Amino acid sequence: MAHPVIEDIRALRETVWRNPRRKPVAQVLPRLDVRREDVAAAAARLERWAPVLAHLFPELEATGGIIESSLRELPEIPRLPGVPGGTLLKCDNELPVAGSIKARGGFHEVLAVAERIAGPPGGSSGTLPWDPRCVEGYSLAVGSTGNLGLSIGILGSALGFRVTVHMSADARQWKKNLLRARGVEVVEHAGDYGLAVDEGRRRAAEDPRCHFVDDENSWELFLGYAVAGERTARQLAERNIPVDADHPLDVFLPCGVGGGPGGVAFGLMLALGDAVHCWFVEPTHAPAMILGLATGRHGAVSAADLGIDGRTVADGLAVVRPSHLAGTLLENLVAGGCTVSDNEMVAAVAAVYQATGIPLEPSGAAGFPGVARVAPPSRALVWATGGSMVPREEFVQWIGG
Ligand SMILES: *Cc1c(COP(=O)(O)O)cnc(C)c1O
Repeated sequence: MAHPVIEDIRALRETVWRNPRRKPVAQVLPRLDVRREDVAAAAARLERWAPVLAHLFPELEATGGIIESSLRELPEIPRLPGVPGGTLLKCDNELPVAGSIKARGGFHEVLAVAERIAGPPGGSSGTLPWDPRCVEGYSLAVGSTGNLGLSIGILGSALGFRVTVHMSADARQWKKNLLRARGVEVVEHAGDYGLAVDEGRRRAAEDPRCHFVDDENSWELFLGYAVAGERTARQLAERNIPVDADHPLDVFLPCGVGGGPGGVAFGLMLALGDAVHCWFVEPTHAPAMILGLATGRHGAVSAADLGIDGRTVADGLAVVRPSHLAGTLLENLVAGGCTVSDNEMVAAVAAVYQATGIPLEPSGAAGFPGVARVAPPSRALVWATGGSMVPREEFVQWIGG
């Protein structure tokens, strides 16, 4: 693997990779296995299930069960000099019920499974829109560093599935506690995340009524994330923010296995075309997609091959092997990727909180140092991916008191 960016990555240096294989969207899309109609079908599924979600989770009543986040325009943030005032923030940290971007993909996959078992939700007048007995005897399993487990566990158990979440040992304790309080079985694995996923996959394969949510290769996750594209394009239009050849938009997406940012990037490019430039931002200690993309080897490569440990304060991004699915779909579409240090992410958490009061977790704040590193000439949009559910005791360690 002799490539200048690989040497930076191996040395854990913060770096930028620009994609030499990027091509116009119109040229790439016809060759992909996923099309516009697939994303539209995912959006329709989320709408179909919205009344059920509003019934299960009182906090969704106001939106009729639609789970969406706000788009904000940020002021200049004094302690983040590389991030210009007017930068946009997509606040997936505030997504209700699951508190992270996983509410998009994770919920969509759980609903797709429920629909395969029980058919589309009925909701005829006067009756409950959902009967948990519809999925009696069925179970869900997932391997997770934390947030995916939260989203699958919270919705899955609310619908009546038995849910098992396989977690790496370094997953946050509060996430394990919260899941157990909802009746989810949490299995802790001594090894890293990849091993937790493998173990979960192996156990689920033994049970035909168990669906394994495969973070490294799931279409349902990917499509759920992609729904964000059209919705965000609408929010930009509502604010009269043009995105076109004269007004490009650079979007910074915190990246773990790549399914979340990959799906969002795909959806954005479907909605807005070549004027949107998507960047994957990864921790220096857990570069996965950037390695898969730069080498063209996708899921066949791991940062562990370079001796990189995957240990980072950004637990949502603590992944060393990229999603093969996301890599192969995005290889000709993304603008590039960059790596950022733990210190930069924690500094961004503190600076953003001080200036705006918005609580982000380090994974959710990675886009900020990403903007500073790439320094795009055009307007930037930072995709904040998580943070609103982090307990206060945990949050204070990042903001210093
Ligand atoms: C999962 C997650 C991501 C990245 O999603 P991937 O699909 O793993 O790439 C980013 N931020 C947060 C907070 C997450 O939980």
